[in-house]
Amino acid sequence: MTVANAAVTPMMAQYLDIKAAHAGALLFYRMGDFYELFFDDAVQAAEALDIALTKRGKHLGEDIQMCGVPVHSAEGYLLTLIRKGFRVAVCEQLEDPAEAKKRGSKSVVKRGVVRLVTPGTLTEETLLEARRHNFLVALAEVRDEAAIAWVDISTGELRVMETTASRFAPELARLAPSEVILSENRYSDLCDLIGDTGAAITPLTPASFDSASATKRLEAFWRVQSLDAFGTFTRAEVSALGALIDYLELTQKGHLPLLRPPQREASGGMVQIDAATRRNLELTRSLSGTREGSLLQAIDRTVTASGGRLLEGRISAPSRDLNVIRDRLDALDWFLADAARLDRIRSALRNCPDIQRALSRLALDRGGPRDLAAIRNALAEFPAIVQTLKEQDPSLLSSWEKALHGFDGLSATLEDLLVAEPSLLVRDGGFIAEGCDPDLDEARQLRDEGRGVIATYQRRYADETGIGSLKIRHNNVLGYFIETTSTHAERMMAAPLNERFIHRQTTASAVRFTTVELSEMEKKILNAGSRALDIEKGLYERLKRQVLDLAPQLQHAAQALAELDAAAALAFLSRSEDWTRPVVDDTRTFRIEAGRHPVVEKALKAGGSPFIANDCDLSADLGSKLWLLTGPNMAGKSTFLRQNALIALLAQVGSHVPAGAAHIGLVSQLFSRVGAADDLARGRSTFMVEMVETAAILNQADDKALVILDEIGRGTATYDGLSIAWATLEHLHDVNRCRGLFATHYHELTELADRLDGVVNATVAVKEWDGEVIFLHEVRQGAADRSYGVQVARLAGLPRSVVDRARVVLDALEKGDREGGARKATLIDDLPLFSAAASAAPARTTQESIVEDRLRDVRPDEISPREALDVLYRLKALL
Ligand code: ADP
Repeated sequence: MTVANAAVTPMMAQYLDIKAAHAGALLFYRMGDFYELFFDDAVQAAEALDIALTKRGKHLGEDIQMCGVPVHSAEGYLLTLIRKGFRVAVCEQLEDPAEAKKRGSKSVVKRGVVRLVTPGTLTEETLLEARRHNFLVALAEVRDEAAIAWVDISTGELRVMETTASRFAPELARLAPSEVILSENRYSDLCDLIGDTGAAITPLTPASFDSASATKRLEAFWRVQSLDAFGTFTRAEVSALGALIDYLELTQKGHLPLLRPPQREASGGMVQIDAATRRNLELTRSLSGTREGSLLQAIDRTVTASGGRLLEGRISAPSRDLNVIRDRLDALDWFLADAARLDRIRSALRNCPDIQRALSRLALDRGGPRDLAAIRNALAEFPAIVQTLKEQDPSLLSSWEKALHGFDGLSATLEDLLVAEPSLLVRDGGFIAEGCDPDLDEARQLRDEGRGVIATYQRRYADETGIGSLKIRHNNVLGYFIETTSTHAERMMAAPLNERFIHRQTTASAVRFTTVELSEMEKKILNAGSRALDIEKGLYERLKRQVLDLAPQLQHAAQALAELDAAAALAFLSRSEDWTRPVVDDTRTFRIEAGRHPVVEKALKAGGSPFIANDCDLSADLGSKLWLLTGPNMAGKSTFLRQNALIALLAQVGSHVPAGAAHIGLVSQLFSRVGAADDLARGRSTFMVEMVETAAILNQADDKALVILDEIGRGTATYDGLSIAWATLEHLHDVNRCRGLFATHYHELTELADRLDGVVNATVAVKEWDGEVIFLHEVRQGAADRSYGVQVARLAGLPRSVVDRARVVLDALEKGDREGGARKATLIDDLPLFSAAASAAPARTTQESIVEDRLRDVRPDEISPREALDVLYRLKALL
């Protein structure tokens, strides 16, 4: 041992050992009522939390940096650290410090890490968003198989899916995980791809992904003989699941979460939507990254957090299974059929707290009486819900009803034992109702009587001493004490009073005493109080056990409630927004009558303007059907494109849709791209991004795909852009043979409608009136006659001189087009010298137009000769 090491205190030695085993995390080292951080951890945490950095002793001759957070407010600090990308190892005292002292004065309290807090393994209410899942994802590859598994330990959901490495990115975009684990071998390859999702990345050793030991780990976790009990899994799937369990064992340190058996998700079961499409369509997040302005926010009418999470999951992954879609639509219609029934169910659901998260906290031993109360309160609503569901028979409804039975015993016990509003933590006590347990009642009575007795002591002592202002007070250091002002203290400290009143403490303004009988009474109160708390703790454990014994049934019921909420919420939405049931089938029909964009419509409504509904028909028995949409900017092209994609998506979510009528043949993949979206943040040229994204569509779209392309090719020079748009449209038509909408400002493309069977020209109508464009937002068959760009520029407030000049240039160009390319160049050369005049005497030109403007307002028939003269002088002054 070196000299320096010899100088290390036993506590520091223990700290360094524990820290060495958790190098990647900040170590919260428990010392009494604080978690302390040392060395570099302290420097990082003090900065991240904006708390004071101090010093404590020396290590190897250097000051030890230190900072700390109080245990009772540690959650808030944890949240900040996790949000800032740290991982935290929470190290607790594992024995009473008194025990350590018994072993000798140098002995250190036993400590150990009880939990590693990482973004993907949170369960605390304060650390989570109620309406969002918190997924931990594992990516695994075994030879040429790949799989992705994900778990939300705050709800117990665990799923796995066979996939290919090339589909990791879109699946991650769908799940939006908080944390991704992968084998360290693959870290460098996949780091960027995961980084794009904003998730924390945690590389693990390849051993965590070993599929043979994973099988054993999984069998042990669910205590089954063979994984076959849950279905058949590929080796990559087992590897991904095994890595998740391994990581949970590592982070939860023996407290394993309550997980449902793994469910396999078939990749063909959902509409495939890649990251760019999700972004463009603003499904669950708007372009600015918030929920505000997203489709989800516009349509979410759920009344429970678990219903909200389920709806987000469904919007992120619409179904491709007709039975699933129809079942959901049937359930929705059943609610819609009876307004009173719908309101009844929703008000019952509103009273149901989040059982999923309460259960998971109880299982991890991070729960408290309030979680038991959450379950009690939900169970209390079950009979009313069951009663309502009994009335009917769509298949989903009866399965939900069944899931809500079998809790009468638990419900009664919780009702009897818990007070109405119990404390959050067990150690606060007082959560068990009176009259449940005679021993508890007796201990509480003793404790309360003792407090009463102490009140009588105060009166007695005041009489005995003649000090009327004497008080008995309590604090955590001294316990109960008698307090007088310094003026009276002398008398207390002199005979004969000093025989009974024992001096304890003198403060600036008061002197404190005790008596033998007061200390004895205090002991009694304390004993009774801690006995009461012990009994409560025992009862809490019993109740928790009873709840956890029914955990699988409760999880099932919670799932039923979430589904019920989602269906009722979509019914409520349909009723309030006047939506209709779509026809969804296995054809290649795509017909929407009077469709609307739910988000734009909502925004317009808020401003008091109507939304103009539009039809769309991309039905094609065979081959492709593409609408080529032209029209000026601001006419409503993007809105129209997106609304049709959203209507198809909503139909496959099993929702009603914002349209007069809709018939959707199942869509397998949804693609949406917008040309020339700046993506400087990722350091790629705009045009490059556009082309990479377009290439992905052309390579992947199948004949059941729906493709929405908005101004593709805009990011480059005119002829390049036009040619790329042209070739892209041909490829979609001839090779992908998909259904799609293509918006462009290249009027030349409209010629394609004559050459390709499946291409139809459509335009968003505008009216020109008195030199101004009026947007009608009506989509009609046929090509736009002109682009109206110049008129739109004028509307936008471009100076009059620029607008006028642009119109002259445009006329020349159009004339040139009509007369052939070579002629165009000469015509441009021949342009009137307006611009030259403007540059020679710009002030004059502007002045002239102001004069013109003023003149236009003059009504000669309505003014007197005197006023006319006045006007003349004023106009002249403007020259
Ligand atoms: P474009 O893509 O043709 O430039 P947008 O789709 O962005 O046009 O629409 C521009 C604006 O026009 C929208 O923000 C919206 O306010 C309005 N708008 C679009 N479609 C409609 C509609 N069908 N009914 C009413 N207003 C609409």
